[in-house]
Amino acid sequence: MSMTISRLQAMIGGRWRDGSGPEYATEYPHDQRVVSHLRAATEADVDEAVQAAEQARQRPSWAGLRHHERASLLYRVANGIRDRAEELAQLQRLDNGKPIQECRALVASAAGTFQFFGAAAETWEETITPARGDYLTMSLHEPLGVVGAITPWNSPIASEAQKLAPALAAGCAVVLKPAEITPRCAIELARICEQAGIPAGIVSVLPGRGAVVGDALVRHPLVKRIAFTGGTRVGLGIQRLAAEKLMPTSLELGGKSPTIVMPDADLDHAVAGVLYGIFSSSGQACIAGSRAFVHESIYDAFKSRLLEGVRRLRVGDPALESTQVGPLVSLFHRETVERYVMEGVADGGRLLAGGARPEGAPYARGSYYLPTVIEGVSNEARLCREEIFGPVLALLPWSDEEDLVARCNDNPYGLAAGVWTRDFRSAWRLGARLQTGTVWVNTYKVFSISTPFSGVKMSGYGQEKGRLGILQYTNQKSLYWGLNETPIAWAD
Ligand code: NAD
Repeated sequence: MSMTISRLQAMIGGRWRDGSGPEYATEYPHDQRVVSHLRAATEADVDEAVQAAEQARQRPSWAGLRHHERASLLYRVANGIRDRAEELAQLQRLDNGKPIQECRALVASAAGTFQFFGAAAETWEETITPARGDYLTMSLHEPLGVVGAITPWNSPIASEAQKLAPALAAGCAVVLKPAEITPRCAIELARICEQAGIPAGIVSVLPGRGAVVGDALVRHPLVKRIAFTGGTRVGLGIQRLAAEKLMPTSLELGGKSPTIVMPDADLDHAVAGVLYGIFSSSGQACIAGSRAFVHESIYDAFKSRLLEGVRRLRVGDPALESTQVGPLVSLFHRETVERYVMEGVADGGRLLAGGARPEGAPYARGSYYLPTVIEGVSNEARLCREEIFGPVLALLPWSDEEDLVARCNDNPYGLAAGVWTRDFRSAWRLGARLQTGTVWVNTYKVFSISTPFSGVKMSGYGQEKGRLGILQYTNQKSLYWGLNETPIAWAD
């Protein structure tokens, strides 16, 4: 893909146009080159998009569609994504610097998400509940209304599809605010939705700042749900505002996920899984396995194999097919990661790998940071408590299972965990005791759209995947049909 600078427009209430806010540029993390220019949206743009969405969703062209008709539009979106898969993957790479192989996987997952929720819509069944008297009772679901979707920069196309697809499948309209620095896939998704025949106004995409566009979306009286993925601090703010209008939200927030290596683990599998769990996406993943608890009896063997694996990781240009670890999303974010590592060392941590920027011409302008392994930090240190969102792994030995479980759970977050063992009993036992939304046993960071995903504790709530994910975008309504042959006796 050429590196020409694109001029982007927003999709606001059925019209392609510039946002009304200030001009800004996005940069390619590999070399900080400007790759796009656009104007940010404003509060007035949000209002225009939401008003248009509210009208569009009530028109027969959307509200009147039967489930199978809406499903066929979602299938067309899925195919539209597949038709442009390589282009979308390259756009995502230019936005956030993820290795191209990962970008392709995310695009494929986005297409699968639209297909899945198309199928969910098409096969949706309402229930006739058991009657307890002389009446018939039904439980039905209606679209919630206008949904505000707010997404982060780390896996834009996948996060955006996970909100758009179930909301559209449920018959809602969506105003999507992508992360300011990664707007391109969202904008192209709006184009694909338009080309698929989704009526004008049903999907708007408004790039811009969270504190302006995101905030206006959350506060807007016609927005009936916020589907948010991002950091816990911002999620808490959204929940506070949502409370004022009694608006439901789903919050997919941060994580500090533990990975447990049991004494009987297959070390080849465990090492590969821990490497992938923390260093893919340069650790910029909510489910990054950033705390590895390794049994003391195998600690040294695990450590030396792990470090051998780290040395072999191919860090570099995300455009290359062979690259495993790309740059961090920005120079600013790299400084945050560096501060955590410096503090970890000051807290007594010993650097076993990384802890520095890679040297040499290919890395000179990019926001690169080497895969970093650190031991000797306590589970209470900031490095082990807070989400770093970078390629930083803390190695922590353990010996007693009670203590292990307590340390894994002694963290504000509860998104995911991994267990590496050959013994299904210990996997079951630990899996049940770990306070997380997902537990991976002898695997890590695998996702399936048909399996629900959400966090617990400060990692948020509200399931995004799975067939029932569609329910979040509906109001449940009950219908009672009286079958009495005589008037209600009370009124006699
Ligand atoms: P962030 O919270 O800074 O931003 C996320 C989105 O919220 C962006 O679009 C941003 O512009 C917007 N935003 C910022 N302030 C806002 C406000 N006041 N009101 C409304 N919207 C606002 O997060 P980020 O740095 O873009 O992404 C990284 C974070 O996302 C990490 O914490 C990561 O763990 C989390 N994440 C979670 C999941 C999950 O499924 N649990 C998945 C991916 C990323």
